[in-house]
Amino acid sequence: MEGSITSLDSILEMYQEERFFLIAICSTLLSIAAFLAFALPWTWVAYKNPESLKKYRVQGRDIPVKRWFAPSLQRFAINSLVSFLGVLVAWPVLRRSGIHAGELPAWYVMVGQIAFFIVLDDLLYYWMHRAMHTRWLYKHVHSVHHRITTPYALTGNYMHAFEFMMTSTLVLVGPSLVGAHVVTLWAWIVFRQLEAADGHSGYDVPWNPALLIPFYKGPAYHDFHHRRFFGNYAGFFAYLDKVFGGTWSKGYEEYRRAQQQRPEPQPQPEP
Ligand SMILES: [Zn+2]
Ligand SMILES: [Zn+2]
Repeated sequence: MEGSITSLDSILEMYQEERFFLIAICSTLLSIAAFLAFALPWTWVAYKNPESLKKYRVQGRDIPVKRWFAPSLQRFAINSLVSFLGVLVAWPVLRRSGIHAGELPAWYVMVGQIAFFIVLDDLLYYWMHRAMHTRWLYKHVHSVHHRITTPYALTGNYMHAFEFMMTSTLVLVGPSLVGAHVVTLWAWIVFRQLEAADGHSGYDVPWNPALLIPFYKGPAYHDFHHRRFFGNYAGFFAYLDKVFGGTWSKGYEEYRRAQQQRPEPQPQPEP
């Protein structure tokens, strides 16, 4: 009896650690705030659909902002909660990962680590996403995200809770591997939510600040995945579809070529 009380005490102590507050609670809240901060301005643009920006729309279809606004917020809230509960359950394991709140590393170490996380996460996401397109997983999990055929930023986290948890788990792989500082983890989470929001914005504007990120080609890449249902499986960088057997979405390469030749892009006509 005394032994079980002692072990219960030691479990409760794990949840009173400062690291639990910083890694589990603060990271979840930051993730929610970052996604909304990146997604809401582009969602507002999609809602207003200004004439001056119509030429930058990736798709010529109407943007169903009202149809998916409340469902997207609802899914994101539920998914964030489920993901937090997952972290809660996994905390006894996660706390041993090496993610720490000790001395801050040099800025170039943080930048290097985040670059590594971006590339690693994208690679892992590519294969997870291809797996999600196998028959069973697509039918029971990933088809939820593909209800959105004309994405806008807030729909970026409209997905099945299981997919959101898997995606969140991949985000933690890099930081766990290198034993990152919690501030590096936070910066990476903010960046990952930029990826989620920007990739679904629906506007391929040449002045998009996200295009400053090396090798990022803009939201048209993932937009084609939603429109065609197949191909363009990576989360962020298009090169993986070339490396792993030419899994481009139909029409994407032509879109890119046409865009390079034409300074003023036009929305794609519907097939
Ligand atoms: Zn997909
Ligand atoms: Zn998507």
